[in-house]
Amino acid sequence: MRNLPIFLEMRDRPAIVVGGGVAAARRAEFLVRCGARVTAFAPELGEDFFELRDRPNFRHVARDPARNDFEGSQICFIATEDQRLQEAARRAAKAAGALVNVADQPRLCDFIMPSIVDRSPLVIAISTGGASPILGRMLRARLETMIPAAYGRMANLMSRFRERVAEAMPSQTMRRRFWETVLEGPIGEAALTGDERAAGAHLAREIEHVREHQDMTPRGEVYLVGAGPGDPDLVTFRALRLMQKADVVLYDRLIGEGVMNLVRREAERIYVGKRPDDHELPQEEIGALLVRLATEGKRVLRLKGGDPFMFGRGGEEIEALAANGVPFQVCPGVTAAIGASAYAGIPLTHRDHAQACVFVTGHGKDGKIDLDWTALLQPRQTVAIYMGLRNLEALTKEFVARGASADLPAAIVDNATRVNQKVVVGTLATLVAKARAAELRGPSIVIVGTVVALRDKLDWYAPAAEDVAHAVPATVNGKD
Ligand code: SAH
Repeated sequence: MRNLPIFLEMRDRPAIVVGGGVAAARRAEFLVRCGARVTAFAPELGEDFFELRDRPNFRHVARDPARNDFEGSQICFIATEDQRLQEAARRAAKAAGALVNVADQPRLCDFIMPSIVDRSPLVIAISTGGASPILGRMLRARLETMIPAAYGRMANLMSRFRERVAEAMPSQTMRRRFWETVLEGPIGEAALTGDERAAGAHLAREIEHVREHQDMTPRGEVYLVGAGPGDPDLVTFRALRLMQKADVVLYDRLIGEGVMNLVRREAERIYVGKRPDDHELPQEEIGALLVRLATEGKRVLRLKGGDPFMFGRGGEEIEALAANGVPFQVCPGVTAAIGASAYAGIPLTHRDHAQACVFVTGHGKDGKIDLDWTALLQPRQTVAIYMGLRNLEALTKEFVARGASADLPAAIVDNATRVNQKVVVGTLATLVAKARAAELRGPSIVIVGTVVALRDKLDWYAPAAEDVAHAVPATVNGKD
């Protein structure tokens, strides 16, 4: 620890600020807040001192300080760019026995000003020992948003301006977008750090601007987001952020309740099907719907199970967007095979077993499976089959007919990563019967390869289904 963190009693004690700019005003403000008797020396004070002028414990002396002005002061902030004045003031202050801080000159300081989170009487001071004030400020910003009092202040500000905003912005989407921009931008920052006056003034200007120019036209956008295989813990931070921003969400059978609970509560929900038999809403219709919603100015979340580009037809959906000039972003997700692998304790590659893994779909058209069997039957390779449960019998038979050993280990991970996860382990010869006995419902991943045998060794790595604390209840089925 480089510096000693202390909280100095300043009530009714003299303190000096040299300078009339923003930096000086900030420091004077802190001193005034903690009850010091503050004297600011500067030929002129900038407007940042505005609020301080009338405070009883603040005094302005409209000249540079003289040597004997420092007598009796315990603490002195020097915030002027005039180097000669800086040096003279520092010497005089030190001679008078004061602790000195020179703005932006760590080497000339007896103490440094921390980044401060003020929830008086709770005060949090953050220092990086001068190493990276930016880091300190970032951390402070985080704490500011985490500590509820700030939200109270923010709410006050919003409620003061609510009516004015409603008048200036007729559409609700527009208002929400406006408030989000406000809260995420400098106004929110000012409100959070307690500068309500600045925040209020800035906010009033912003509202007028939007009223006059009506240029907050919300621009629609599509987020194609992979939500992972089911356990909500596998949702990425980015996915979560987008889920929290959406105005409307399009989801299907692969998205479980646990994941849907993470979507912004007010978002409109549109179910776009995908049951094994009723088949999906035609892809063109989903594409057209995405385009229409985005064109209305909405933030559209297209939530996909696993990863959007893994057998998810995500590519087709964004084609429509691109063709219509709708902005979109794609957020990856943990694909089912990867989730299944980890939660079932079956590594997809392993130095002694498999140097490659292929991901294929076993969903054949009219019962005919169209796969490149020569590629699938390569030695030292794992095959992960999506949508393979319904054709399991045909698939396993075909493997053997094409030359794979009937003893080749194979497994099914059903409802991978969810509370109702089931793992069935066997061989190409036995898997069908075992799957039947286990009454698997899907969605499931079929894993074929000797890596499956590792499960016995590695099982303890994988959380048992009942340990997957808040995974989704057994309400979802995939295409299987
Ligand atoms: N984009 C998805 C796959 C969509 S295709 C992804 O990246 O995972 C649908 C198939 O994915 C299902 O038939 C099933 O084979 C597999 N699948 C999806 N979620 C699954 C889960 N939780 N457990 C097992 N398989 C799953």
